Amino acid sequence: MNLEDVRKVYKTKTNEVVGLDNVSYNFLKGKFYAIMGHSGSGKSTLIKIMGLMEPLTSGTYKIENKDVSSLKDEELSKLRMKHIGFIFQDFYLDEHLKAYENVMLPMLINKEIKSQERKDRANKILIKLGLEERLNHYPKELSGGEQQRVSLARALANNPNIILADEPTGNLDEENEKMVFEDLKALAKDGKCVVVVSHSNIIKDYADIVLKIAKGKISEE
Ligand code: ADP
Ligand code: MG
Repeated sequence: MNLEDVRKVYKTKTNEVVGLDNVSYNFLKGKFYAIMGHSGSGKSTLIKIMGLMEPLTSGTYKIENKDVSSLKDEELSKLRMKHIGFIFQDFYLDEHLKAYENVMLPMLINKEIKSQERKDRANKILIKLGLEERLNHYPKELSGGEQQRVSLARALANNPNIILADEPTGNLDEENEKMVFEDLKALAKDGKCVVVVSHSNIIKDYADIVLKIAKGKISEE
């Protein structure tokens, strides 16, 4: 994933705030990137832009050499489904659905996966993440760490090659945090591009590359 001179300016009625200040960086598959920086430095902006959830103000963003900087919503959501898996601090699991049903959700819009295959595939991903005894549990019957691993499984549902996470361990204790980082590291080993915002120094033990963001500018640590 290649960002070139990516600029993001948030315009409000009264002023303009620079979210990203001409960022150029090439993110590679097979690497685990930690994104660190103070509050308000532009970390979430970077994740949202990379996740095709925010348009750029200027510059270019390429996924697999395809320029995605100025695509329409419909094309963006297709690309998002195909390439990108998201993980959030608050998990955002559907509390009325069992673990495997939550993981099946993103598959519903993916025509490539046949209906009878969805459940098998969801269970398989959960089992790989060590949740074989939690497949039929509802989110409230799971620990925070387990819920985050279900949400990681859901991010993997359509086999994306880019995994984006915005402070995925913000609500977890250290033991569960390490487990989630371990899983993310394994995904990078599997060939995915993993980009994770974190305030925790522990991430440095797992990430291949630590990137610092300050005032919308990015640099390698
Ligand atoms: P971080 O995730 O590092 O805390 P953000 O990327 O959320 O930082 O924000 C970077 C800057 O952009 C901050 O100054 C923030 O206030 C501003 N910002 C973020 N989102 C918006 C928005 N929707 N409208 C206006 N300003 C925003
Ligand atoms: Mg943020």
